[in-house]
Amino acid sequence: MVDLKDPVIRGLLLNLVGEEGINVVFNMPDGEVTDEEVSQVTEVALNVVRRTLYILFENRLAFYRRERNKDSGWLTYLWKLDLSGINNLLDEQLTKLIDNLKKKLNFEENNMFYVCKNNCGRFVFDVVSEIEFLCPICGDDVIYQDNEIVKQCLLKRIKELEYP
Ligand SMILES: [Zn+2]
Repeated sequence: MVDLKDPVIRGLLLNLVGEEGINVVFNMPDGEVTDEEVSQVTEVALNVVRRTLYILFENRLAFYRRERNKDSGWLTYLWKLDLSGINNLLDEQLTKLIDNLKKKLNFEENNMFYVCKNNCGRFVFDVVSEIEFLCPICGDDVIYQDNEIVKQCLLKRIKELEYP
């Protein structure tokens, strides 16, 4: 059973479908429904309902079945919400986040950093060493920046996420 009140799950859904889409997820009728029915029940605009259902489908959180009307020959799409895959989705996102943090840590470990006195930015050794340790933006001096704290913070965050 998926707890929609869980702030982590709510946050994930909010990222995926936005504030209006959340209303669709929270108020979606049980069983198979058409997008028009969802729009009526949830009072969310039809184009937003369609977009939300499509995003949910892409993330394997909603599914549809096509049914052809025998008389008109028209296809009807019957939608059904299935949030059971949401924990897998959370795991995938967590893995991606950890990977990104590890890449950042790796970059910090393999580079020396310099900052501009005028706060133009932070530059790696290769960039400023070619222009006599001047800021590539304003031309003023850059100062070496010890990145030990940055590395420690990244490492701490990675450990927290890997071993919660
Ligand atoms: Zn500068």
